[in-house]
Amino acid sequence: MNILLPKEITYALETIQQAGFEAFIVGGCVRDIFIGREVHDFDITTNALPSQILQLFSSFTVLETGIKHGTLTVVINHMPIEITTYRIDGTYTDHRRPDGVLFTKSLMEDLKRRDFTMNALAYNPKTGIIDYFNGKEDIYNKIIRTVGSPDERFTEDGLRIMRALRFSAVLGFQIEEDTKKSIHTYKDKLKYISIERITSEFSKMICGQYVEEVLLEFWDIIDVIIPELSIQSKDDPAYKLSVKTLVNTPPILYLRMATLLHSISKQAILSYEKEENIDNNHSSEKSAFIVKKILQDMRFDKETTNRVYTLIFYYDLDLIEDKPYIKKWMNKLTPKVLKELLQLRRAKSLSQNSKDDKELGKISTINYLIDEIIASKSCYSIKGLAINGQDLIKAGIPQGKLIGEILQKILEEVIEEKVDNNKKDLLHLAKHMYGEGGQQICDLHRSEQ
Ligand code: ATP
Ligand code: MG
Repeated sequence: MNILLPKEITYALETIQQAGFEAFIVGGCVRDIFIGREVHDFDITTNALPSQILQLFSSFTVLETGIKHGTLTVVINHMPIEITTYRIDGTYTDHRRPDGVLFTKSLMEDLKRRDFTMNALAYNPKTGIIDYFNGKEDIYNKIIRTVGSPDERFTEDGLRIMRALRFSAVLGFQIEEDTKKSIHTYKDKLKYISIERITSEFSKMICGQYVEEVLLEFWDIIDVIIPELSIQSKDDPAYKLSVKTLVNTPPILYLRMATLLHSISKQAILSYEKEENIDNNHSSEKSAFIVKKILQDMRFDKETTNRVYTLIFYYDLDLIEDKPYIKKWMNKLTPKVLKELLQLRRAKSLSQNSKDDKELGKISTINYLIDEIIASKSCYSIKGLAINGQDLIKAGIPQGKLIGEILQKILEEVIEEKVDNNKKDLLHLAKHMYGEGGQQICDLHRSEQ
């Protein structure tokens, strides 16, 4: 079998081989070639030592970031290629990271340490495919199976649990029975893994096309990661609904996280109330707060965290098919966020047992109205008004907080369609407002200072 490789990879393999060493592409790239997926990065494995690789590629940029693990990144034609010396991982006393790396001369040993059979394939054009663990067959049968005893492999490194779930959710592969059993048995090994690495795998998993089955089968793993969801069992109706809703949510991380976390349990809210000693604020505010904390603890980036927080905070907004009402929300949230909220609400309506046709109708009308407001360039924000602060100052209204207040009031009038959005009418209105109450508001500010 001949695989067409980028010329940079062929060059790197040949350079190493011509110096008398072995070199193969390995791992994810070989797997993805067999699946027919686009390869995002090529890794090379070799029996040459890092110092020898450095010598062979001395005329290229070589990054030494992974040198502790025997990995060098050689940049050829702007393409970064990771070249790693065959290695055996040391013992795993903390179930997390090998204590040290040991280089080996044996490709077999290097492939044996890899997590799944599909990830333990190696290839070069001269030798062809090296497949000691039937990885090719497992790929054809869409099966995820550990290399060697699953109990041992998950005990060594709990991150493999997340990798198995992620690959299954993204590729639609089944996890082999013994591997599956072992994942359930050793789920607590996840506690030894850094939350950043769990979250990174979790994020890819949650956006996977085949995530539904994974979430249902491995509800107990989700429970280890996000106990606040209080998933009761495989058949927990609330969890089932939230999984169904998640599948109907576009595969964008913050949208899917918002859907998943929206179902945050009443129990979590109650214990939060107890802890914080509060009882009188709105429930969506409380859930948004808890959700923010969960996301921060999971080390999601700020942007994702804030987006999910906003979506959950406003999740329950009333759906009213009225233009001024929609303009107010467009102003408050931006059209983009408002539309995202509608996507979440739509996903939920679609997932309920008796589909909520009334709500679905409202959602599509509101979507249509938003598009119409944008297309007709109707004003819904201060920025869209035909006048700005400078115009008010020129008209003799003193600089300061008052300008903003007047603009805000004018916006409300424009949104309510009580006044036309043109400069002349708005200036007239502004002067009128200033004349009426402005002086007073102005004096009030002065006395506050
Ligand atoms: P992706 O497509 O996400 O890059 P990948 O399988 O290539 O998937 P990498 O993290 O790039 O994942 O790892 C490269 C290879 O290293 C894997 O294919 C696998 O052979 C090996 N590997 C990675 N992580 C582990 C692990 N935790 N345990 C054992 N082998 C691993
Ligand atoms: Mg990879």
